[in-house]
Formats: sequence, C-alpha cells, structure tokens
Amino acid sequence: MNLNLYGHDGQWLMVDCGVSFNAPLDPVASETADGEGQKDNLYNVVAPDPDFIVKQRDALAGLVLTHAHEDHLGAVPYLWPRLRCPVYATPFTAEVLRRKLAQVGLDGKVPLIEVNADVLLQLGPFTVRWLAITHSIPDPFALHISTPAGNVLHTADWKIDAQPVTGKPFQHKLYQSLGETPILGMVGDSTNALKPGMSVSERSCFDGLFATIQPLTGRVVVSCFASNIARLISLARVAKKTNRYMALVGRSLTNMYSIAKSQGVWPEDLVLADVNHMGYLPPHEVLLVATGSQGEPRAALSRLALDNHPQLELSAGDHVVFSSIVIPGNEDAVNRLLQRLKGKGVHTLLSEDSALPIHASGHPCAEELKLMYHWVKPEIAIPVHGENAHIKAHCTIAKNSGVRKTYAGNNGDLYRLSPQAGIRRQWVKAGRIPIQK
Ligand SMILES: [Zn+2]
Ligand SMILES: [Zn+2]
Repeated sequence: MNLNLYGHDGQWLMVDCGVSFNAPLDPVASETADGEGQKDNLYNVVAPDPDFIVKQRDALAGLVLTHAHEDHLGAVPYLWPRLRCPVYATPFTAEVLRRKLAQVGLDGKVPLIEVNADVLLQLGPFTVRWLAITHSIPDPFALHISTPAGNVLHTADWKIDAQPVTGKPFQHKLYQSLGETPILGMVGDSTNALKPGMSVSERSCFDGLFATIQPLTGRVVVSCFASNIARLISLARVAKKTNRYMALVGRSLTNMYSIAKSQGVWPEDLVLADVNHMGYLPPHEVLLVATGSQGEPRAALSRLALDNHPQLELSAGDHVVFSSIVIPGNEDAVNRLLQRLKGKGVHTLLSEDSALPIHASGHPCAEELKLMYHWVKPEIAIPVHGENAHIKAHCTIAKNSGVRKTYAGNNGDLYRLSPQAGIRRQWVKAGRIPIQK
C-alpha cells in the first residue's frame, strides 16, 4: 500500500493513499510468529497510519492519485475524514473513487477534483505535471513534481507496453525529454526488479489467451483481476473470435466494466451477455470471466467450485484458466480451489504453468528500469513499492545505469533531496492501522 508525502517550504503534497489486503499490522512481529500467530495478526484490510500528516493537515496542499488500484486509492474513503484535503485525479480514477466514496456515505462530501492531464496542477509550492504511462489499469500516470528546489519524477506503477490493448502505447520520447532538465530524484516501482528482461505486453497476452482458449471444448472460465480492463477487452475479443458468449461473474468485475463503459474505455463493438442466460447455452458457447483468482472464499470462482453459485454450474470437461498470478501468501487458498475444481473433473491452468503468455504483469522488469534510468538520468534513485530484496535489486540496476546515488530504506524515512542530499531514518511515525478484521 502506498502513501507518499513530498515536502517543500512548510507544505506537503500527498501522492496516493492505498490499502493492503490480508496483511498484518506489524509485519516484523508477524514474520517471527509461528503459523497460527501469523494468521492471528492478519487483517482483511489495513491502511497506512496517517498520524504524521493529520497532526499538521493545514500544511497539506492536496492529495494526488496516480491510478485507480486499491494499493493507491483504497484508503481514501477511510482516511479522508481525518485529512479533509482536496483530492485530484484524472477521470477514470476519479470515477472509481467516487463509487467507493458513495459506499461509505461520503459522496459529495469529499472535494474530488477531476483534472485534465494536459494541464499543469499548482498545489501550494508544488507544480504537478501528469505524464501518461502504461500499467495494468486504464489511465495510469507518472508525476513530474517541481518546486523552486528542483524536480522529482514519481513513476508510480508502470511498465513499457508498446501494445497495451487499451489506452495509448508507452511514449519513450516523453521520458527521454525529461532527461533534458535536471531531475533530483526518481521515486520508482520496484515490484519486478528481481525479474530479468522486459514485461509481457497486453497484446501478447491476448495472443496467448486466444491460442489457449481456441482449441478448448466445454465451458471456459477465465479468472483475472477486475481492474485490468485491457484483459477484459482481450477476453471479449477472444470470445468473439471463438464464437462464445462472454459474461462477467462477480461484483468487482461488473463494477469495473460499468466504469469502463461510462468512461468510454470499453469498445462499443464488444457486447457482453447476461450472466442469467449462460446456464442455458451449450457449454462450447460459454466464456465466463470470474472474480476469485486468489481463492477468496466468497468470490465467484470459489462458489462455482463449491456448486453454490445461484446462476451457474460447472461440470466435468469444463476449463478454468487463471489469467493472473498467485500473489505470495495466497498459495494455500488457491491450492484448495484447484483441488475442488479438479475433483469435479474441471481442467485448470495457472499462468505460472502455461507455455503461452496468458498473464502480463503491470510492473517493469530489469531492462525496463535500465531504459528509464538512461532516459531520465536522475541524480538520486529512490526505489519504492517492494520488499527489501526488490528495493536492493532496484538500487543495483540504478547504479549500473549510471545513477550515482541511491536511497534504500523503510516506511517512515525522510529523504532530503536539496540543497544537501541526506536521509533521516524513521523521522516520521509510519505504522499501519486496521480498517477491517
Ligand atoms: Zn501498486
Ligand atoms: Zn498499480
């Protein structure tokens, strides 16, 4: 989960405000606990402790959201009542947040400003420029943040995708041009720093899904992350090309699809079927996209595996394809789900076991990080968004790409960029707070 604060001249700018799921309040204590102890420490939803900024919220110029993933905006409905600042987002992200705010009765109460990404945003001493980037959700942005003290590139989550299926391809010229002016620091995504090479394009993922699904008989169920609209579009195209009707099963999928339609992101020629009709179709005409790729017990896929879905039933010879990864920590739940499906005679395919690309990560691998450092040439690399091992690997890549200084640290560290660079360890109280047990 992400919550970043940039400070200048007595004011702060917050970038992103996300949650984490199924996580401990104290990761260190949880690591040293035994199996049962570890489970006891887990919360359904946790958020960053905002105490530091709440105590000086008059100095908070605003909150800027880079994209609509839960680990970047999911905490806004819970923390905003304590922050009470204006929130800035581009249209797709704003719509995702608006629906979340409505669920907790905060609709109309939060000053949510929908911005035009072509226009500079001035918040106190911070000038924010929105830089289009590619990721695994519509409308992702990196931020170029300027103050009289200098410039920072906050990449947020990104990858280089030349064929992202939805949205514009990655524009390397935009990032090359950043290198023409001095960049003090680049604060960047470390998720896949341990992986060599380049990430898979969404377009290759479409090809892989098509080749995987085309020869199958029986019903096909594909499980993927609901916010990956590009993947949903690819699956709708696969359905069309393989003469199947596609329907969505699961609340988060139907919600994201409805947002994609309302924001003009969904192609008009791709029509989805009503899930209530799917039970009446011959199996070879059915393609279902279901929530629950992580084995979540209440999600659609688990209910299908347990035969307690109200509208649909799977039978022997059907296929479940995971167009997703198993997030570390969810292995047991996914294994239980696979066993139940196999027990019914349903064939399963995890992306990890597939010879073809049927999942694409939204984060940069080592070669993509190298390219970004060659283009942007920051004075200091500040890897974030990863565990210690990812951050270390990211620092090594930055050094090998000619960046002289790297800052590696932990939540609560303050990094000074100008006039004299330096680190104050654990300068900010930065724990976690429970949102939902
Ligand atoms: Zn993220
Ligand atoms: Zn993301």
